[in-house]
Parts: sequence; structure tokens; C-alpha cells
Amino acid sequence: MSELQTKCDVIGYTLNGNRYLNITNRCTLRCAFCPKFNGEWTVRDHDLRLMRDPPIEKIIEAAGAPGDYKEIVFCGLGEPTMRLYTLIEAASHLRSRGARVRLNTDGLANLVYGRDVTSDLNNVVDSLSISLNAQDRDTYNRHCRPKLSGAYESVLDFARRARDFVPQITLTAVDGLPGVDIGACRKVADDIGVNFRHRVLGVVG
Ligand code: SF4
Repeated sequence: MSELQTKCDVIGYTLNGNRYLNITNRCTLRCAFCPKFNGEWTVRDHDLRLMRDPPIEKIIEAAGAPGDYKEIVFCGLGEPTMRLYTLIEAASHLRSRGARVRLNTDGLANLVYGRDVTSDLNNVVDSLSISLNAQDRDTYNRHCRPKLSGAYESVLDFARRARDFVPQITLTAVDGLPGVDIGACRKVADDIGVNFRHRVLGVVG
């Protein structure tokens, strides 16, 4: 039997009492530090390479019983808002069954869709974890290699606008990347009035 036939896409996986949902491998960014650009698709023993974007029925099935988890986290290895409308439908369904939903995002959905989508998240996600990744545009562009111009400013604007619709917002940055000043990243978050968390390279959570 070929590798193709034996491979089963990992849509849901459990870490630290949370259920993570891998709904697409597509991204707007091409982060130099991303495992997938370094030929490494495995996160904590889960191979997150998808043969195709899973349909909503498979996503909901992969989420399991919401009551079994602290949070259901739309995560990746990819950017969940590339499938914004599927994400909204799945998250709304899971929330109606009692799930607490977190979205881990690059914060670029407004730029990608050409409109402010933050109100779409109202009563859909309970918390947002937004990858700030750097304290300024040049450092961000160097590490994240965005395909669209104005990406860094768009992330900041997304975070500001989302405050009206999502109760808990956290900006994140990866510790240890050259030129990334974690203290300065924290100040960016403080200035916007949201939380900050630094992440460890290669660790999902
Ligand atoms: S946003 Fe995440 S999944 Fe996409 S390229 Fe960057 S690190 Fe990789």
C-alpha cells in the first residue's frame, strides 16, 4: 500500500487538555521559522500536513465532545482564517454545544478579505491569539515574509478592532528570533490594551 493510501489527515489533536483543529495548511505568511518551510510538518508527534482542506463535517467530528476539553483551538499548521466562513460555522456550532473557542491567527484576515471581518467573530470565538511576531514592520517582514503589503500595520489594526467583539485577546511573539525584542513586543500589546505572551520556537499551545 502506498504512503498516499495509508496517510490519514490529522484534523484534531489534543495537547495540554485542549483540542486543536488543523483546518488548512494555507497561509498568507511564509514565516522563515515555520516548521513547514523547513520540511518539518510534525508537531508533538502529529503530522499536520493535510492532503486537502477538510470539510466542515470532518472538522466538527474531529473536535470530539467539547466538554472533554478546556478549549477548542483553531490553529493549523496554517492560517485558519483562510477558511473564514467554514471556521465561523464550525466554531458557532461547537460553541452552541458548550465549547470555549480560541482562534490562533496571523491577524491578517482584514487584509485578505478586503474588509473588517472582526465583527464576524462576535459570539463566535471567546479568545484570540494573534501572532504579532515582532515589534516593528521591518523585523516582522524579515521573519514572516508576508505576501501582501501593509501586513504588520494590518495585524495591529485587526487587534484594535477585535477588542469590540472578542472578550480575550493576546498578542504573541516567538522568543529567540534574531532582532525580536520581546519587551518591545509586550509594549505594543500594552499600548493596544491587550494581553501578551511570548512563545517558544516550535512549541504549539
Ligand atoms: S503563520 Fe504560522 S503556519 Fe503560517 S507560515 Fe507563519 S508560522 Fe507557518
